[in-house]
Amino acid sequence: MTITFATMSHHCTATVTSAVEAYSPVDGRAHGSLDAAAYVCPSHLQPARAMWEEQGLTPYTAKAGGGTTPCGSITDFRETVGS
Ligand SMILES: [Zn+2]
Repeated sequence: MTITFATMSHHCTATVTSAVEAYSPVDGRAHGSLDAAAYVCPSHLQPARAMWEEQGLTPYTAKAGGGTTPCGSITDFRETVGS
């Protein structure tokens, strides 16, 4: 399993309060497979959800925080092909 670390295009130093998880459907369930998560502050919650929806994924917002993860960090669990 490949895990890719990336960041969203914005730069933000606000405190992360949410993990916006991205799911792809499996067997007809919208939250079938956890594909990625973006860690964001409250003002970047909507851009993160929109980003996953643009990729055809179902966003789910979970509480996060307490760590040092910067806003806009992405952890991608999807297999990367050809990289
Ligand atoms: Zn932010």
